[in-house]
Amino acid sequence: MNYYSTNGQAPIATLEKAVVKGLAEDKGLYMPERIKTLPQDFFDNIENLSFQEIAYRVADAFFGEDVPADDLKKIVYDTLAFDCPCVKVTDSIYSLELFHGPTLAFKDVGARFMARLLQYFLKKELKESGTPDVKKSQVNVLVATSGDTGSAVANGFLGVEGIHVYVLYPKGKVSPIQECQFTTLGQNITAVEVDGVFDDCQALVKNAFIDADLNVHMKLTSANSINVARFLPQAFYYFYAYAQMKKRGLAEQLVVCVPSGNFGNICSALFGKKMGLPIKRFIAANNANDIFFKYLQTGKYEPMPSVQTIANAMDVGDPSNFARVYALYGKSHEAICSDISGATYSDEQIADTIKEVKAETGYVCDPHGACGYRALKEGLKDGEVGVFLETAHPAKFKSTVDSILNDDIEIPVKLQAFMKGTKQSVPMSKNFVDFKQFLMGE
Ligand SMILES: *Cc1c(COP(=O)(O)O)cnc(C)c1O
Repeated sequence: MNYYSTNGQAPIATLEKAVVKGLAEDKGLYMPERIKTLPQDFFDNIENLSFQEIAYRVADAFFGEDVPADDLKKIVYDTLAFDCPCVKVTDSIYSLELFHGPTLAFKDVGARFMARLLQYFLKKELKESGTPDVKKSQVNVLVATSGDTGSAVANGFLGVEGIHVYVLYPKGKVSPIQECQFTTLGQNITAVEVDGVFDDCQALVKNAFIDADLNVHMKLTSANSINVARFLPQAFYYFYAYAQMKKRGLAEQLVVCVPSGNFGNICSALFGKKMGLPIKRFIAANNANDIFFKYLQTGKYEPMPSVQTIANAMDVGDPSNFARVYALYGKSHEAICSDISGATYSDEQIADTIKEVKAETGYVCDPHGACGYRALKEGLKDGEVGVFLETAHPAKFKSTVDSILNDDIEIPVKLQAFMKGTKQSVPMSKNFVDFKQFLMGE
């Protein structure tokens, strides 16, 4: 399968190039040239298949032309070493819990898949070139994080041979729970604590990618969310959610609501729909960063500086995957509106919702999932059943959720284990010369 750029000015790329490069030369996002529909008998029988079996069928449609079946199956099965259950919250609203992976957020799925696919391509390259020098062929992933991305990428790549990850994060600006998820791992993960803000971390990474000496010295790549290998695998759990709801006899008029920031998650769901997944319609739930919501109302896409909210993983003022949604629907506002509606909530509304769901049902939402729940509660029509994505475990936002619920919510054992580890990081100034010197010595 070949990939084209949403900006239309870059050469067509193979899957390998799209995965290794991430972004196209014209700064556009890669899109598969074709989207294969899955056969009716797959959907007829889907409720009898396991998550891994379902995911493999979807992965085969995306990547089957480029990765041999045995390798692809192993990548999918290793990626999905945890469940994504649909849990009943009310009679008509279910929560698709995407927080059962290593870092308790949905980004685990894409990060784990990408790590394994990249490793597959590296091994293949090594075999073809005949170079026995593993050190020289090592790929170094640089990732700047303000919290969640660093933990998902670090854990996704942990122990993956042939790849070293450098996580750059701003000193004192990441919550302790987030910080320990990438500073306590060791092995092939190095945390770099930058004396600056997130933008300084991002600038160091960008400078490293364009520095000629460094690129001769070592192979560098990025693992950010625009990578097709991080974004397409997210489609897996929408098919699985459908299967679980079908098993309950509740999939006839299914509405799926996705708390959205950069729109990678919902975009993978829209790919699923194009592949034949019978979801009736989608809702994109925003916090106060309502650029997409406004686009739906007006047909105009007007990026804005982001504002800070309590659902901070959705504080995005210029969602990068909008370009993909736009391309997928042939740039038609009308077509987009026929499949997707929007919602937007203030911090106060999010907090009220967390309280209300807890009081009425006993279920504890994180601030992102709360946007999803509320949009379904307000938007479901007669006969429809809704599934919202619980994109992270509420304990990842413990201080926010505790103060809203006036509670002390339990931290899952998995998260506690990170917190017990020894923190190790390399202190770094925000000057590129220092970061370069450090990498040249590696
Ligand atoms: C990244 C993230 C989101 C937003 O997902 P997009 O794919 O960027 O739309 C929502 N919730 C949580 C917890 C996240 O980490």
